[in-house]
Parts: sequence; C-alpha cells; structure tokens
Amino acid sequence: MPQQLLEYRCPACGASLQFDSGSQQVVCPYCDSSFSPQELIDYDSFLKEDAKNETSDSWSKDADRWDKDEATGLNVYTCAACGGEVLGDDTLASARCPFCDNTVIMKRQFTGEWKPDLVLPFKLDRAAAQNAFRKHLHGKKLLPKAFHSESCIEEIKGIYVPFWLFSSDVSASMRFSGTKSRAWTDGGFDYVETSRYALLRAANARFNRIPVDGSLKMDDAMMDSLEPFDFREAVDFQTAYLSGFFSDRYDVDADVSVDRAKTRFNQTMTSRVSALTGGFSSVALESSTISEHNNEREYALLPVWLLHVRWNGKLYTFAMNGQTGKLVGDLPLDKGRMWKYRLLYGGIFAAILGGLCLLGHFLGCGGGCL
Ligand SMILES: [Zn+2]
Ligand SMILES: [Zn+2]
Repeated sequence: MPQQLLEYRCPACGASLQFDSGSQQVVCPYCDSSFSPQELIDYDSFLKEDAKNETSDSWSKDADRWDKDEATGLNVYTCAACGGEVLGDDTLASARCPFCDNTVIMKRQFTGEWKPDLVLPFKLDRAAAQNAFRKHLHGKKLLPKAFHSESCIEEIKGIYVPFWLFSSDVSASMRFSGTKSRAWTDGGFDYVETSRYALLRAANARFNRIPVDGSLKMDDAMMDSLEPFDFREAVDFQTAYLSGFFSDRYDVDADVSVDRAKTRFNQTMTSRVSALTGGFSSVALESSTISEHNNEREYALLPVWLLHVRWNGKLYTFAMNGQTGKLVGDLPLDKGRMWKYRLLYGGIFAAILGGLCLLGHFLGCGGGCL
C-alpha cells in the first residue's frame, strides 16, 4: 500500500522544511539549508502513480496512519515527527502539525483526478497579512473604536485554495431594437417623428484563465473579491510549494463550477456588445446568442491568507490574496456613529438644498422646491 502521508523533511538534518515566499525557495529553519522546488522534485514521484492504485480502500479505517475520529467526524492524521494528532475534513490536502509545525501532505488528495495542473506560489508571508489587516482598519470612520484595541487575530493561516481556471473563445451576437426621435413645431402643431431600427451587433473575445473556486467551504463572493491573480507567475504543480501551508482539494466539480464562469462570460459580452449601440434615443435587447469554443480548463491551487479575528464574542473572517496583498472582509459597523454621520450629512444636504431654494426665490425662478 502506498504511504498516505508525505512529509517535507530537510535532507541535511531531518527537520521540517518550509517554503519561503521571499526567496521562493524551500528552506530549513534549523540548519539554514535551502532548496529550489525543482531540487525536491523526487518527493513527487508518487504523482506519477496510477490513480487506480489508490483505491477507496486506502481510506478505510485501518489505513496507514490515519483514522476517523468518531466524536468529531474528522480524519485524524498522526504526525510522524512528534506523534501529535492533526485533524482534518475529507478535503484537507496538506496541514501543519499544531504541535511541532511539521507539514503533512495527504498524497491521495493530489493523485489522479485530483492532481493540480498549476500552483501559484505564495509571494507574501504571514507578517504581510498581519500588516494588511492593520492597514485595512486604518481610516474606517464607521469602525467601532474599541475594535482597534480589543480585536484579536485568533488565527492566520496560509492556505492553497483549489480553483478551476476556465479559458474560452466566446462569440456573442445580439439583436436590439433601437429608436431615434426628433420633435419640432410647425403651424401651431407639435410633431414627434420616431424611427425604429433593427440593430444587429456581434463581438468575439478570448477569456483567459477565469478563476472559480472549487471549495464548498470558501465563501464564493469573498474568493471572487480576491481577484485579480497574475497567472503568468503560475508554475507546474509541485508539492514543494505546499511545505509550511495548508491546502484543500476541490469538492465542487469543474462541470458545476463552469456555470459561474459562463455567467461571467455572458455578463461581460452583453455589456460589451450593448456598448456598440450608441446614438439611439432608446435601445432594447431582443435576443442574444452566446457560444463558447476552444474551451480549456485547468485545476490550480491559489495562495490565500485567511485571518480569523475575534471581537465582542464574534468571529470575523478576512482573506488576503497571497500574491498581490489585496485584503477583503467585512468589518463591524458602529451603528451609533453611522446614525450620527447620516444625520450630520443629511443635515448638511438639507441646509444646502434649503439655501438653493432660497436663492431660487430671490432670483425669481420659483418652482421646484418642496
Ligand atoms: Zn536542515
Ligand atoms: Zn508534529
């Protein structure tokens, strides 16, 4: 039976290795050795094993060094370095041992249909995520003051999130009805002439690597907000990039995820083609045909820092793009302050409006003010 867990141990001293986002090398914090991911390619020989060798039996209760915890329903992995237990659900693909920081990689989550095509390596580290969060709070007028001093970052976790990348040549052809009107007065009569047009417009576009997250537990809107990712920095998948990080395998199939990509293709094409109908008094879309060709899909792991922040008994989740540093997440609102601002700005607006009305009366233009 193939071994289920892969550990990234330093070939020189046996300590746990970690990918360093600054140098893009895998480093040993104990003996200062450093390796390029390419030098550690032998760790990935298991990726070539036929998926058929990895039958579902290997996930049975007696499988090599993992078990199901009856109380939590989670899988329990035993860290080979310290014997500590690592808990994870069925999609957990790599994790750090909470006791000794050793990285454990669940081999089966990367074989066969689950083998990623690409990985976008982390470029920003934990400290960058912490700084981005503090910056995110800066200047937020409606944030409760106590949040700055009392909120506590409970956990910062670097995780490779599974994404599907869809590429496609998209053709759109649309039919609109347009009108042009002109009005004039002649001999005491008002005339309006309306001409109607049938407008046919078409456009083609290539969409490259539109990302859709393939993880049920990740909030779709939050993951969408992390874009853009620069896929020119993506590399062929290698487990070396996972050392020191968590990762998940997908649990939403490409066939399901593609609908979200198609919705984006359609929205983009509709707005682009609609923009080609200028110069009319009114335009209404009558029919639309959108089709995709030369479709390609890739399975990629993308870098995300997740921050769990506790304040006032509630947990707030923020996510940072591990490549660009873009941070997203909802902050709590100080409702008292919000009303104060509304009243203040509402008052200023009313005062300006009142001033304008008064000016209107002085100038004798009369109406319009209520
Ligand atoms: Zn070492
Ligand atoms: Zn351990």
